Amino acid sequence: MPHRKTRYIVVTGGVLSGLGKGVVVSSIGRILSFLGYKVTGVKIDPYINMDAGTMRPTEHGEVFVTYDGGETDQDIGTYERFFAGRLSRTANITTGQVYDTVIRRERNLEYAGKCVEVIPHIPEEVRRRIYGAARANDADFVVIEIGGTVGDYQNVLFLEAARHMKITRNNVVFVHVVYLPVPNNIGEMKTKPAQHSVRQLMENGIQPDFLVARSSRPVDEIRKEKLSIFCNTPKGNVISAPDVESIYELPLIFLGQGFHTSLLKKFHASLRPLRSAEVASWKRLVRRIKTVKDEVTVGIIGKYFDIGDFTLEDSYVSVIEAVKHAAWHCGMRPVVRWIDSKAYEKSRARLSELDGCDAVIVPGGFGASGVEGKIMAITYAREKRIPYLGLCYGMQLAVVEYARHAAGLKGAHTTEIDPKTRHPVIDILPEQKELLAKSDYGATMRLGEYPARLAEGTLVRRLYGKPLVHERHRHRYEVNPDYIGRLEAAGLVFSGKSPDRTLMEFMEIPDHPYFIGTQAHPEFTSRPMRPNPLFFGLLQAAKSRRRSRR
Ligand code: GLN
Repeated sequence: MPHRKTRYIVVTGGVLSGLGKGVVVSSIGRILSFLGYKVTGVKIDPYINMDAGTMRPTEHGEVFVTYDGGETDQDIGTYERFFAGRLSRTANITTGQVYDTVIRRERNLEYAGKCVEVIPHIPEEVRRRIYGAARANDADFVVIEIGGTVGDYQNVLFLEAARHMKITRNNVVFVHVVYLPVPNNIGEMKTKPAQHSVRQLMENGIQPDFLVARSSRPVDEIRKEKLSIFCNTPKGNVISAPDVESIYELPLIFLGQGFHTSLLKKFHASLRPLRSAEVASWKRLVRRIKTVKDEVTVGIIGKYFDIGDFTLEDSYVSVIEAVKHAAWHCGMRPVVRWIDSKAYEKSRARLSELDGCDAVIVPGGFGASGVEGKIMAITYAREKRIPYLGLCYGMQLAVVEYARHAAGLKGAHTTEIDPKTRHPVIDILPEQKELLAKSDYGATMRLGEYPARLAEGTLVRRLYGKPLVHERHRHRYEVNPDYIGRLEAAGLVFSGKSPDRTLMEFMEIPDHPYFIGTQAHPEFTSRPMRPNPLFFGLLQAAKSRRRSRR
């Protein structure tokens, strides 16, 4: 059953992929939130994978982890950062999940002897999931992003589901995001591809109520007119979305065109005033983003040798955003430097390039490649007193580094890489194995939000400003409790532990400007208005290093 009061905005994309549809959806969510509505987001991905957990980040982008342990599309992270607070794993629907449910139900005789068919049963399950997300969030509005490009074979059934929603209820509005190219040889913005993509959408029985026109520059009145006539959409509902310096600017560009009022009108909802304090602080943020001058350089160390065409930005988007949020709040302009740790394995001398970084991050990762190079970089950051933040793998490798070089545990390693290591300082814990085997996830990973108690008097405790914190996890390995005594005796401080004290969640080195590792992924909880404390601390330390280097 659909939720009584909820209104649905279905966003499709045309012309080309990589339009920034996720940012458009997020900005729509943001402007509706500015009106005081409860808004939630749903991302539909047309692949057979049950979730993003099994997909290669270097091809598909980051795996974003929700508080309830969902391994979701990176767009869910964008929604959370812009408007959605915390989203459940149910916010990300994939073709695989939909078919899986329908087939299981068929096996359970739940279709009572009926012939189970792609139409209507697949779109019906899609709708059921969308309505479920609306109910769970008690939402006034649900913004639904249909992944892929109109005309793709894979997303037809999702368009079909959206069309059904519209014919059964009058509370669905369609927004189509198109691209207007400005070909070099013509120097003029062209609307034809957009017209064709609207025609394609209409072949699926969907007439867009709004067009969002992405382009390198703002869309002029002449072209808005043209799009309006050829795409059968009122001119006032053609919204311009030009390239922007920062994605956080787009909600303001939408407000400037009255997109929020046009949306409400389309739903026949009564107009409401914007929450001016919220809009003002968003404006302040954007102003700050555009005016901060002092640069701060953050090196992100990974294994970036097999990157092909993909952008690093996509596979580490939450880490980058967390760095940005923190930098802006410190009044700095962040510059991210990508560092391939494999280069250090070939030439130790190259480590000196880290001197040019104001802070260093080793983000999450899996597998053996580049690991020794990462450890070399961690040694360098520790000895040269460069602010360091280790995220998950970055904490595990920092523990390995400390064990080898400061605690005298020669050959220490994580059993992920060396199952026969003399000193398995990072390992899968037996009780953890049992717990994970029993859990619903089926997988062997610790996924989702877990609490940690922070020790009084530590840097981590001071940064969070409270004794109990929750961060999100995605890993199999843990610090081996058998080594805690020896590591602590050598000066390592485990500043945050699971409430039963068995899992080491945070570590730090006291005699260092900033050296923190966490088993969690704090990047997932950073927000533009509320940077994550660990990133904020890192950037503050980076800022001081910057000043002293000058
Ligand atoms: N590979 C490590 C583990 O599975 C770390 C994972 C991560 O960084 N997310 O424990």
